[in-house]
Amino acid sequence: MRIVALEEHFTAPDLAGRIDRAAVAARGWPASMGHEDELAEVGDRRLAAMDAAGVTQQVLSVSGPGADLLDPQAGPAVARAYNNRLKGLVDSHPGRFAGFAHLPMTNPEGAADELERAVRELGFCGALINGLTDGRFLDDPTYAPLLARAAALDAPLYLHPGIPPEAVRKAYYDGLPGAASFLLSSPGWGWHAETAVHVLRLVLSGALERHRGLKLIIGHMGEGLPAMLARCDSVFTHETSQYLGRTVSQAILDQVWITTSGFFSLPPFLAALTTFGADRILFSVDYPFSDSAEGTRFLEGLPISPADRRKIAHGNADALLKLASTTGAQPSST
Ligand code: MN
Repeated sequence: MRIVALEEHFTAPDLAGRIDRAAVAARGWPASMGHEDELAEVGDRRLAAMDAAGVTQQVLSVSGPGADLLDPQAGPAVARAYNNRLKGLVDSHPGRFAGFAHLPMTNPEGAADELERAVRELGFCGALINGLTDGRFLDDPTYAPLLARAAALDAPLYLHPGIPPEAVRKAYYDGLPGAASFLLSSPGWGWHAETAVHVLRLVLSGALERHRGLKLIIGHMGEGLPAMLARCDSVFTHETSQYLGRTVSQAILDQVWITTSGFFSLPPFLAALTTFGADRILFSVDYPFSDSAEGTRFLEGLPISPADRRKIAHGNADALLKLASTTGAQPSST
């Protein structure tokens, strides 16, 4: 069975070296997130891990600090360099990789222009955005041109978590033993809460209403939202009925797709399946931070119909990202 994985990361250490290390540290990034060798390698070793796990195609995105830490003048050139590098990697291994663009988020118009170049000229599938930029979520009015361009291009935006702002780190996460503060602020809890808040802000601000064609993807089995949709409607509907045309849950179900990245257990999957449904769930690993073989074993063992398994494995991704047409990869018939 063809298996496409959406939230799969790489780095380009030489390009990352163009970003001031002091700025990286000031933003709260640790010196290393680990897995540096695997992140920097897009070739035989990665392909062997994909083959061993049965992953046909990875949609690649830049991991860690990037052009979003550069000033508005410097960001676009570095983002272009990342995307040109990624285009070369995709072209070197036909059918095995696709790309989400890296955007110069401190320059919203430049980000919109780079998204358009990446989609139209490089054949990329959309873009991946790491959390907040200078304390701003995508509902900030400065990002309206980017949201409008993404919708016009029919290019999904993958909302990935990032490092929380300093004030949030201090108030919510500091003061725990060892690495516990960092872990609680990031993959242990904070990242998931942050990305759910990001989606909810896009709904509650009216941004999704203004950009009805915008498609969002979030990882980690929906970042807790499947368990919260009914609660959101019960809490928000009195307020949102004054200014939105849909309930919060309907806006999310209309415009958000979710992936399995790093979440390979049944309870959150069942919550996702019974809220978003099999048409809105896409397979992902979060390579190299999660294990590809664990992910595909989970996919193969899910108590769902063969038709739903094919949708989650590749059908939804092929349709949403127009993969078969942009990469030349042949969708499997099984
Ligand atoms: Mn990730």
